[in-house]
Amino acid sequence: MMDLATMALAGGTMMGLGVAAGWVLGWASRIFHVEVDPRIERVNAVLPGANCGGCGCTGCQLYAEAVVAGRIGPDKCTVGGPSVAQAIAEILGVELGETWPFRPIVHCRAHTGDKLQMGNYSGESTCAAANLVNGVQGCTYGCLGFGDCERACEYDAIHVVDGLATVDYEKCTGCGACARVCPRNIITMVPFKRERMLAVACSNKDFGKDVRAVCKVGCLGCKACSKASGLFIVTDNLARVDYDHYDPEHFVGVDVAIEKCPAQGILYVGKPEKRDLEKLGDIEPPKLVEANFRTTVDRTDWQG
Ligand code: SF4
Ligand code: SF4
Repeated sequence: MMDLATMALAGGTMMGLGVAAGWVLGWASRIFHVEVDPRIERVNAVLPGANCGGCGCTGCQLYAEAVVAGRIGPDKCTVGGPSVAQAIAEILGVELGETWPFRPIVHCRAHTGDKLQMGNYSGESTCAAANLVNGVQGCTYGCLGFGDCERACEYDAIHVVDGLATVDYEKCTGCGACARVCPRNIITMVPFKRERMLAVACSNKDFGKDVRAVCKVGCLGCKACSKASGLFIVTDNLARVDYDHYDPEHFVGVDVAIEKCPAQGILYVGKPEKRDLEKLGDIEPPKLVEANFRTTVDRTDWQG
């Protein structure tokens, strides 16, 4: 049986150890203390909490940390848009340059009846799977219509309609999930500087006659648009809009270009909020996010 002296010794030892441990912990917390910038919490509080990755970070908290650390700009939250960018700029005490909402453009306008269907694909009903094999449809660039983008969109803002991915700009928040998931890279995220933006709705880089063989509405690369207006550039047999110079000065001849396009492939798309229109001016648009159009189809025939 433990006598009183032993118990007192044990108790004293425990107390001494406790005091020593407390002192060590206190010392360590002072030495290794990392100051957390309180602005991170404030920035996080004004973010929408979508954790969509549209800003390039893997969540709103990481974006808040990055923006406070100065590694990324305050206007990169595509879901929050200009109002959130302004709120972040105020927290950081910085001037916010002019910003526009980014919205997706689908560079294809071929509905089911417009494109050559090969008809013998019976694999998994996803664009990612279908894109890996040849023989699903004639055009190896355009929309496959299996709806990977539709499933990726958390805002019910893009749907496959008659074989073609179609954006609902009233619902779209510009998170970019559709663009990231499309295996054909035909969705670009474009700064919407106007209520409706011009787009060349094609991504096929083949020669005109090859395009015509697989699609009724594909770009032929004929240059009728670029001859009519400086807003269009044709490279690799494919026309595109020069969004870097999307201002009134460069709109001369656009109507002629639209009319002369034999594929009728130049469209106006989109409908952002009115407050975005108030920001129109002579200011340079933000950096364009552009897809790298290329066919990624394995030419090996589908064997079923
Ligand atoms: S359509 Fe959906 S997934 Fe694509 S940018 Fe808009 S909200 Fe995001
Ligand atoms: S846009 Fe891309 S992801 Fe969406 S249905 Fe077409 S091919 Fe699939």
